[in-house]
Amino acid sequence: MEDLGTEIKKFLKNENLSERYPNVNYRDLMKKVYEDPDVIAFLDKNKAELTESNVQRADAKLYEFLSEKNKIILGKGMIAPGYKPQLVLNNHMIDVSYVPTDALIEAQKSKALAKRVKSMSMSKDIKNATMNDFDMDGRGDALSQSLKFITEFVADPSAYHQAMYFYGSFGVGKTYLLGAMANELANRGYQTTLMHFPSFAVEIKNAISDNRVYDMLNAVKKSEILMIDDIGADAMSSWVRDDILGVILQYRMQEELPTFFSSNFSMKQLEDEHLRISQRGEDEPLKAKRIMERVHFLAKEVKIVGKNRRPK
Ligand code: ADP
Ligand code: MG
Repeated sequence: MEDLGTEIKKFLKNENLSERYPNVNYRDLMKKVYEDPDVIAFLDKNKAELTESNVQRADAKLYEFLSEKNKIILGKGMIAPGYKPQLVLNNHMIDVSYVPTDALIEAQKSKALAKRVKSMSMSKDIKNATMNDFDMDGRGDALSQSLKFITEFVADPSAYHQAMYFYGSFGVGKTYLLGAMANELANRGYQTTLMHFPSFAVEIKNAISDNRVYDMLNAVKKSEILMIDDIGADAMSSWVRDDILGVILQYRMQEELPTFFSSNFSMKQLEDEHLRISQRGEDEPLKAKRIMERVHFLAKEVKIVGKNRRPK
């Protein structure tokens, strides 16, 4: 077809359409098809390869294209939700293929992103925490250290980078900061496990009865980046301290894997007031020291001060 513009104009002339489509309703439908800007653009782009009869035989395909396109606009009834129709040319035959919509591509991307943050027993608002809306007040040091960590880690992920142990009172934003870092690291392609330690301790105890301790422990200890939230918030049994926490930290220290902590206690308080005293009330200073040596190796203590930001 040499001049498709004229050809389409011919189609669109009423007498021509009447001849091709004696049925009035069908004629109306096809008129809309041939008036569609995407159809016109497609035919025009491929005019060198198309004959008039190629186009005529494609009525059904062109109509399918337009009706699927309109269904997307209406937001319902699509053949393949998330996909949009596209006209393609296959050996002089016009066909419709379906390609992912931008919305679907976006959704798939954020799903992949969310998968990189594996959170265990964390509250939902962490999902939306970002470094950008982190309020600096009292937290400037914590924030700048976090940004520094991210920059250095991303520049050389296999090298050893000391992480941080954030401590400060209830509600100052320790968990929020960990969440924001995890999300930022996910944006850069790194996987983080963010776990609420007291809940994890309960879960792993429950996992004994169905033999899942080993798998749970392995998944946590091997995580690319690990964040242990709220350590010290609940009394821990000696088993959790030595055979779970101790094993996780030992592995991470040996493998030099980034490991963050948050706590209401300073490191000193964690050692003296929490790890030393077993649930049964026994004083076990050496056991506490062994854990703390690993914590010191893995993380630098950073204090966060500020007001309690929790909604009252
Ligand atoms: P902590 O873990 O120190 O007890 P959280 O991180 O849970 O404190 O923060 C307490 C509340 O304040 C949460 O509701 C959290 O979403 C909110 N919050 C903390 N820091 C920020 C921040 N920088 N910007 C917005 N909200 C914050
Ligand atoms: Mg917290």
